[in-house]
Amino acid sequence: MTVLPQIRNYINGQWQDAAEQFQPRNPATQEPIATVANSKESDIDAAVKAARQAFRSWKRLNPTIRAEYLHKIGDAVAGQEQKLARAITLEMGKTIGESTGEVQKLAKAFHYYAEEATRINGDLIPNDADGFASMIIHEPIGVIGAITPWNYPLELIGWKLCASLAAGCTIVVKPSEYSPVSAAALFECLESAGLPAGVANLVLGSRGPGPMLVAHPGIDKIAFTGSTATGTAIAKNIPTAKPLSMELGGSCPMIVTDKADVQMAVKGAARRGYRNAGQICIAVNRIYVHENVYAGFVDGLTAAVAAMKTGDGMDPSTDVGPMTTPDGVDKVEAHVKDAVGRGAMVTTGGSRIASLAPGNFYEPTVVTECTPDMLIMHEETFGPVVGVMRYNDLDTAIELANGTEAGLAAYVYTQDLTETFELGHRLDFGNVAVNNVDAGIMNAPYGGRKGSGYGYEHGREGLHGYLQLKHLRIQHGA
Ligand code: NAD
Repeated sequence: MTVLPQIRNYINGQWQDAAEQFQPRNPATQEPIATVANSKESDIDAAVKAARQAFRSWKRLNPTIRAEYLHKIGDAVAGQEQKLARAITLEMGKTIGESTGEVQKLAKAFHYYAEEATRINGDLIPNDADGFASMIIHEPIGVIGAITPWNYPLELIGWKLCASLAAGCTIVVKPSEYSPVSAAALFECLESAGLPAGVANLVLGSRGPGPMLVAHPGIDKIAFTGSTATGTAIAKNIPTAKPLSMELGGSCPMIVTDKADVQMAVKGAARRGYRNAGQICIAVNRIYVHENVYAGFVDGLTAAVAAMKTGDGMDPSTDVGPMTTPDGVDKVEAHVKDAVGRGAMVTTGGSRIASLAPGNFYEPTVVTECTPDMLIMHEETFGPVVGVMRYNDLDTAIELANGTEAGLAAYVYTQDLTETFELGHRLDFGNVAVNNVDAGIMNAPYGGRKGSGYGYEHGREGLHGYLQLKHLRIQHGA
């Protein structure tokens, strides 16, 4: 009998068991992969208290020293690249190449915020009376409660960790119940970098610990990434007014105009629609294609998607891994069924992959002849499925693209300069990428609008999410 690894909480610099455990499963095989602490209220309370105690000294530490810790963590993450990447693939399924890329970007994020930690500047501003000095200074918010999903399990913890630690905050992290193993492996890197006890704490568990962290009075800010439904529940359940940041779901449009390089657009759609089995908040979900280039685009995308190899993400030849949860497959199946029922066509894919059962596999799928009423054209499908619809008037395409509650990312393919600026300005999204599908870079603010949330990660704005302003007014003359 295989003995499963024991994954424990990391509280106040110690690995700690909880009274209960749960067992997450490998989505490619449905085998249990670990026995994991299922935290109770007392565990959450201990973690918040440890973070509060550590905040007293961490906030006063010279920023250059905080930066040194962050550089050390970045080095430790890079040194554990393969271990971390394998943990991601094992528990949530993405291909090992994608997991390795995620870990590499995570290491860079720690180095980026190490530099930002030393650039927290204030302002000396004009006063309205003589003999006074007015300074605007930035101070850390306090103890952060970070709640994260499974789809980028390490980057989404990492962005919150590195920006909050750089700002002088301390943190309690509650990762998804589907991705505790990689989270614990990341915390081993924090431990090996010598981060002082209590500065960063990890509380694991299935559904319970998230609400417990939200309700805890010792948390000064909740930084959440996850679904719009959970974000809305958190905003309702928060006991007292406190800062929140919400990185929520998307339903991201792509517009391919008749002035696009169609092959380039096909490549972009194939990459951003199906990576991570389409389980990306900024995945391309719905594509509006000018009727003059529609047939060529559909043929190109269908061929590219049909050639993708689906399988266990640990196999380096796999292009598309399993979906992470059985519920996710059910949702994809329902969305495709709904589209077909309303008159859409499936040009490739369209089914679960029975030969890979009991793994959570669904074929990479292209759905064409779509209309706006179909679920795939206005809800987040979060799977390896893209809907394609034709248009003949750019204003209509823009209206459709803007016409959902989602405001996270939009994509445009055109070789025309006027269209580039027109679409760049009129698309109501926090991130717009033209002729590429990489909307997020580390030094640019990344955030959503409308139902996709508020607050920013990345860049200076990501750091400022963990800082609060103080006006310090000093009288120095009579
Ligand atoms: P989810 O909302 O189900 O869970 C996210 C986290 O919240 C998990 O840790 C979960 O345990 C916790 N949680 C669940 N209910 C809670 C509650 N009532 N109170 C407190 N915590 C609770 O999301 P998921 O399925 O893990 O992730 C997929 C979703 O995340 C998608 O909608 C995707 O678009 C979104 N996402 C958004 C971004 C972004 O940057 N905007 C990035 C990645 C993922």
